[in-house]
Amino acid sequence: MFRAILIEKDEAGYRAGLTEIDAAQLPEGDVTVEVAHSTLNYKDGLAITGKGPVVRKFPMVPGIDLAGTVRDSSHADYKPGDRVVLNGWGVGETHWGGLAQVARLKGDWLVPLPEAFTPRQAMTIGTAGYTAMLCVMALERHGVTPDKGAIVVTGAAGGVGSTAIALLSGLGYTVAAVSGRPEEAAYLRGLGATEILERAAFSSPGKPLAKERFAGAIDAVGSHTLANVLAATQYRGVVAACGLAQGMDLPASVAPFILRGVTLVGIDSVMCPRPERLEAWRRLARDLDPGKLDAMAGEIGLSEVLATAERLLAGQVRGRITVDVNR
Ligand code: NAP
Repeated sequence: MFRAILIEKDEAGYRAGLTEIDAAQLPEGDVTVEVAHSTLNYKDGLAITGKGPVVRKFPMVPGIDLAGTVRDSSHADYKPGDRVVLNGWGVGETHWGGLAQVARLKGDWLVPLPEAFTPRQAMTIGTAGYTAMLCVMALERHGVTPDKGAIVVTGAAGGVGSTAIALLSGLGYTVAAVSGRPEEAAYLRGLGATEILERAAFSSPGKPLAKERFAGAIDAVGSHTLANVLAATQYRGVVAACGLAQGMDLPASVAPFILRGVTLVGIDSVMCPRPERLEAWRRLARDLDPGKLDAMAGEIGLSEVLATAERLLAGQVRGRITVDVNR
């Protein structure tokens, strides 16, 4: 038996709870992992509360991320004792996920845990941090260098935003942070933001074109915020869009694209091909200051997951929350 969060949906409704599961119920897979840590991402919050259609099969163990040690493996690349990390691939949506003491998965989904990180640190990064790295890599791929100008990060005090700020400032970029939480200004400056901008200045309908302020952007928010970021992006600037914390809509015009040659790059972490994942984790190990990683980390046990998921969706969680599945 092992402990896990389980989401059920039936005539009694949609509910998540902490429960004991028989190992015989684990899904198909060629690697069994003893999970050390998981984490709560925005998507996990949607899955646990049922506020978004994340879970596609019931019952479901949520948790799109996990880090731990291989217990059994029939996969050629993994043997018992190997340290591994998993992000996405539909885990926690269509396949039982990381908010459990044990997980059984496809070995092809796993990434070796970089030497630089403990399982807890890898989960402080989690999908949010790995996605922030994919966004930074996209800006680089499209030619954004620190000398081109400031990068704006939206949803700044959240998981993607916090990691993006830490990464960008470590790489020498000037970072402007858009946040709705003025009380987190010192935290954001500690991560490396040099300017804190009010969320309200971005979240309402704006003009098709605004003053050119940013060479690039990492947007975790979508909706009017993304539209206003596009409008304020300088000639030939690049915007990496990865999130929808404000909304899924994009009430923008083509003006930034056709008059300023702005590039909008979409970022998906879930099905991202393995070579790019390996590169993202290599870059995280190289470029993320461990001190800043610790500054954005909070930790809970499995029994605190449900309440914390509500707080996360209410925008009350700062940085990243890891889950020690064994406490
Ligand atoms: P998070 O920790 O909850 O952070 C989201 C942040 O967005 C909040 O901390 C808040 O920042 C801001 N925010 C919340 N509600 C808002 C609103 N109504 N209007 C404007 N800003 C708002 O979530 P996360 O894990 O960083 O994820 C951020 C987004 O990226 C989510 O939409 C998530 O689904 C998406 N995501 C996508 C991928 C992908 O593969 N594309 C991967 C990971 C995450 P402030 O308090 O600082 O304003």
